[in-house]
Amino acid sequence: MGKGEFERIADYFAPLAAGYPGAFNLTDDAALISPDAGQSLIVTTDTIVEGVHYIGDEPADMIARKLLRVSLSDLAGMGAAPHAYTLNIALSREISDHWLASFVSGLRDDQNEFAIHLIGGDSVSTTGPAVLSATLFGLVANGRAVRRAGASVGDGIFVSGTIGDGALGLKVADGSIELADEAAAREISGRYRLPQPRCTLGLRLADVATAGADVSDGLLADLDHIAAASGVGAEIEMDRVPLSSPSREILASHPDLGHLVVTGGDDYELVFTSSKTQAVSNLSLELGLPITQVGRIIGGHGVKVLDFRGNKIPFGELGYRHV
Ligand code: ADP
Ligand code: MG
Repeated sequence: MGKGEFERIADYFAPLAAGYPGAFNLTDDAALISPDAGQSLIVTTDTIVEGVHYIGDEPADMIARKLLRVSLSDLAGMGAAPHAYTLNIALSREISDHWLASFVSGLRDDQNEFAIHLIGGDSVSTTGPAVLSATLFGLVANGRAVRRAGASVGDGIFVSGTIGDGALGLKVADGSIELADEAAAREISGRYRLPQPRCTLGLRLADVATAGADVSDGLLADLDHIAAASGVGAEIEMDRVPLSSPSREILASHPDLGHLVVTGGDDYELVFTSSKTQAVSNLSLELGLPITQVGRIIGGHGVKVLDFRGNKIPFGELGYRHV
């Protein structure tokens, strides 16, 4: 690492570590995390590559925030409170100060919003596309981590918020779908560009859930992971899947895109199973967050999707496959 990079860390990144004693202002070899007795550390990491996971012309602050948010969503899915993160970046030598400053301001915004600090990382230069990787650390009281395994036959299947906005929002954002209503277009493309990880619900998940995950690969795929890990099957009713009003508007004119609601990715909502229907609806009221029952856990394996008549809708691909 050249002298320039030490300066870059001091100028751009060390301020993001201020306020976290164990980060030592990013001047030591490593950071120190000291969980309270009775807490476990939960770790998740995510990497994005320029030209693959983002185009390269997005504002750098939005790239930074989305990078953090996809992992914040994983922490929520595990029932953990966001705590701190490290950042590994491979950037071209030509990267501008303007880009870096914008990237750092996006990190700062979401540090404030989600009460996390930067505590370390690594910086390298590359002749290829930028590679950005964040590792998030969360805290959870011992025994309160929510796993994919744990769903039992008879449990209800619940989702937070609305489903399908990630995939449909991408189509609006990239111009392949046009919405006459500009406010609706902004709303749904914003759901793709800057997802809202359900951290507050995540903290309460262990109160009600037998199993849970975040919806990042598509509802069917993520539910299939829960079913497989739990050794059960799942059944959802397509008509019960909650849609936002922009999504309903899009589907009214593009009914052929209906499958994307459950197979598209990038919703960053939570899906979980629970036998405590009343407690789930109390929690929804308390948090002011819609939580909808979309189906139930059944015997067997795999995920069945039913139409409003109770007939099975065939789905070949369960969800988005990673490139
Ligand atoms: P080492 O050579 O021991 O791996 P570095 O010189 O790479 O350490 O890093 C020095 C310090 O700066 C470390 O505390 C490291 O965590 C921090 N750091 C390096 N790059 C970043 C980054 N992109 N974001 C945050 N902290 C960083
Ligand atoms: Mg290093």
